[in-house]
Amino acid sequence: MLINSKPDTFEKLQLLSRDSQYDLACACGSTKDSHRTRGSHGKWIYPITLPDGGKSVLFKTLISNVCSSDCKYCPLQRNADIPRCTLNSEETVNTFLDYYNRREVFGLFLSSGIIGTAEATMEKLITTCEILRKKHQFKGYIHLKILPGSSPAAIEKALSLASAVSLNIETPGKEFMSKLSTKKDFIKDIVEPIKLISKLRSEQKRRIKQTTQFIVGAAGETDRQIVNYTSALYDKVSLNRVYFSAYQRNDSENSEDTQNSEGFIREHRLYQVDFLFRKYNFSQDDIIYDRDGLLSKDLDPKELWAKNHPEFFPVNVNTADRYKLLRVPGLGPNTVENILNKRKVSKIQSIDDISSSGKRMLKALRYLDFGQGPKNKVFLFNF
Ligand code: SF4
Repeated sequence: MLINSKPDTFEKLQLLSRDSQYDLACACGSTKDSHRTRGSHGKWIYPITLPDGGKSVLFKTLISNVCSSDCKYCPLQRNADIPRCTLNSEETVNTFLDYYNRREVFGLFLSSGIIGTAEATMEKLITTCEILRKKHQFKGYIHLKILPGSSPAAIEKALSLASAVSLNIETPGKEFMSKLSTKKDFIKDIVEPIKLISKLRSEQKRRIKQTTQFIVGAAGETDRQIVNYTSALYDKVSLNRVYFSAYQRNDSENSEDTQNSEGFIREHRLYQVDFLFRKYNFSQDDIIYDRDGLLSKDLDPKELWAKNHPEFFPVNVNTADRYKLLRVPGLGPNTVENILNKRKVSKIQSIDDISSSGKRMLKALRYLDFGQGPKNKVFLFNF
């Protein structure tokens, strides 16, 4: 289905930016509410988390929602009866620059459905970036999608223009991808290009970020399989971030929305595991699953680990190293840093010396020892 024979740029952007919401591999938050919320200025403005933890907004759109592929989980798949349209390079560039020059956005996220072939579509994405970089001397942030099946030459060109790139891995293995698409060859179209991007990044002087995304719950994969694949991606191709997007069924498949909310819980737990890998020195072996290979719906993965390792606790707040403190539920990297700094000056006597009391501190109290005798240990076993 095509929209009006001649939709204007505004109409096209409304549609194409809405359709870009499923792609989170551009740091669009990590909670159900934050990453799917769009800004009030226009539907193509999406909030993101910056590498330093700050917040900003991106101009985020597809250049086209036309797609020749047939990914079962995707609302844009070729047989879907949806309005389709395509932006040309000049209208993308000019509209983005209007926002950028008014300082309303931090940068641009550009993706697309596959218009005919990956190569032809990459050419359109690259041309848009070239106009920005060369004609308009734009030096700011561009996150460019690398489409599955892109050639080495297109990947190399994209890396010369972008600040960050992503190619979505979607599933933890080819057996899952083959359930979802007859068009995508998991190894040739996805894994090999991801490896090539990683290799080219390591050879370049410019620091280009590389991310990817899993679709969660579309192919019968377990959380364990996604987590193990995530860990391998960090270790073997040095990805900067892995994102997770819950598969959202349409209404006819799921009138009560139960499956969707379960998908969002899985997505949330996977982000927690990802955080444990990146910030807390957890490894694959530290993650606990149920018999079906799923993460607990009721407890976050860090607290579940603590409850399964009573021999590790209590942790002495005045003598434990950073690694041990980071294992304490309720203590995050900033609080641990605070503890390490404070105890250089004087002994920590109570939870009030660490932080003003809150729910997280009450949780931490159960696992900490302040070196003042058995009084504190009462909390430890009082789960
Ligand atoms: S290639 Fe991308 S846009 Fe096309 S159907 Fe698959 S996921 Fe959707």
